[in-house]
Amino acid sequence: MSEREQVPMDVVFVGAGPANLAAALHLKKQAAEHDVMVDKGLKFGKKVGELEIAIVEKGSFVGAHILSGAVMDPKAIRELMPDFIAEGCPVDTVVTEDAFWYLTEKGGINAPLIPPPLKNKGKYIVSLSKVCEWLGEKCEEAGINIFPEFPAAELIYDENDAVIGVRTGDKGIDKEGHKKPNYEPGVDLLAKVTILGEGSRGSLTKQLMARLGLMEGKESQVFSLGVKELWEVPAGQFPEGKVVHTLGFPSDTRTYGGGWIYGMKNNVVSIGYVTGLDYEDPMIDPHAEFQKFKTNPKVAAVLEGGKMIKYGAKTINAGGWNTMPRLYADGVLLVGDTASFLNGQRIKGIHTAMKSGMLAAETIISAFEHEDFSSNSLKHFEERVNMSWIYDELHPVRNFHGAFQKGRWSALINTGLQFMTKGLAWGFMPKEHHVAGHERMKKLSEPGAIATGSRYDNVPFDKELTFDKVTNVFYGAVAHDEDQPSHLHVLDTEICATRCAEEYDNPCQRFCPAAVYEMEERDGRKELKVNFSNCVHCKTCDIADPYQIINWVTPEGGGGPNYKGM
Ligand code: SF4
Repeated sequence: MSEREQVPMDVVFVGAGPANLAAALHLKKQAAEHDVMVDKGLKFGKKVGELEIAIVEKGSFVGAHILSGAVMDPKAIRELMPDFIAEGCPVDTVVTEDAFWYLTEKGGINAPLIPPPLKNKGKYIVSLSKVCEWLGEKCEEAGINIFPEFPAAELIYDENDAVIGVRTGDKGIDKEGHKKPNYEPGVDLLAKVTILGEGSRGSLTKQLMARLGLMEGKESQVFSLGVKELWEVPAGQFPEGKVVHTLGFPSDTRTYGGGWIYGMKNNVVSIGYVTGLDYEDPMIDPHAEFQKFKTNPKVAAVLEGGKMIKYGAKTINAGGWNTMPRLYADGVLLVGDTASFLNGQRIKGIHTAMKSGMLAAETIISAFEHEDFSSNSLKHFEERVNMSWIYDELHPVRNFHGAFQKGRWSALINTGLQFMTKGLAWGFMPKEHHVAGHERMKKLSEPGAIATGSRYDNVPFDKELTFDKVTNVFYGAVAHDEDQPSHLHVLDTEICATRCAEEYDNPCQRFCPAAVYEMEERDGRKELKVNFSNCVHCKTCDIADPYQIINWVTPEGGGGPNYKGM
């Protein structure tokens, strides 16, 4: 007999990010409103009653694992809560000034015109971690159950492959897999509808997409890695409310990349660099790219005399509309970044994530009304998305990221054409629009594999302006109990020691922004060492490994970074 407790719920959300928090809150409010309308005879249909809603979150609190730039378009939060500012939404600063810099190694120019998608005046610079923490409080006030430190380890299916809930991870297992005195088995949370809002490269989403073929007929999801620091800089050095986006140095022209600098309150600056994880050069190190970015004189001047106070790294699901999986199956919906809702051209996904969650909530109310939680009922989520402003925003830019797979210049021309023709310009598009990043990485033996000179060991880490990964991880406040099984499953370490060493010089050592992977020499042969306790849960390794033999699974609840205020 199973020792696991079974907890029946109506709706279970996996992940306490902006999509799911908005979804849960909207669901609670709209379900109550629906019932009042039915009671008053203002709406036909059945009442849905009081729904039991749970949100499970692997971090130690809501917001612990949330990382973004971030400039928030308030379009969705205003729909969710028209008086969100009066309700206490912790926006940091209103954007007052936009700039776009094209950088070279030794300098750069201010673009005279800001590309329209990057105009942000009037929008809000936020700590997304803080916004999510606040949304979590609003959810709890509304009677929604939030379970932090409860990672969803697997989906539960019935005999017909319908999703009927999630199993949370066991606690108290030692590194050999034995039960410790504090052992607690995970719980089965059973639900009529499960919503996956796990963020970029969700581990359950990945399993579900493979099991049910949700990517059939779609282009491959493509990802980027954002590496970010918060700095305190001398007063007056960088204006609060100023937003800078950059192109150029240090990325080479065939690698997708760009930087940001946002001026926040109290002389805090959010600075980061995004590298497309569909790069060809196996020697690229996205963390090193970010460190090099800071050495550009225009960028370094922003940080001069300041100090770094926080660090984090997270992947971004960058492909957009053409790379969206099927968003529904029996008993399950996919929302937010896990389902490619980000607008890569605007570098914005908070508003689209929240809106996708709200549309999922409306679909769920209808499903409860008709007591039908099958695909047949939940497919209306896609129709709602197609009828919403998400379609109007994402469809015209559906080729934006794919065009960069042909290099920066053709992509910029294409972006301009796309902008003018609302996405109809195809002239410069590669035949297959989005190719999975791990398929694009070149073997060292291939002509032109190394193009950038972005070797990790070429970057001087002076610990004032530039930092090595181990120092940075300290500022990510990362913690995992070391006496637990590694959550990074490398399925065949023999490949690491042989083929991967020879063909790619083990790129995991470079693409991981937290120094988790090291190749050690032992008895004349290479061996992989996995420092899993450094992991910041960015998911890069699961995405970028050229052999796809790294499987990221949830560690014990509460482990990972602490991005409070990031
Ligand atoms: Fe990211 Fe993987 Fe490194 Fe963890 S181990 S920080 S998920 S690349």
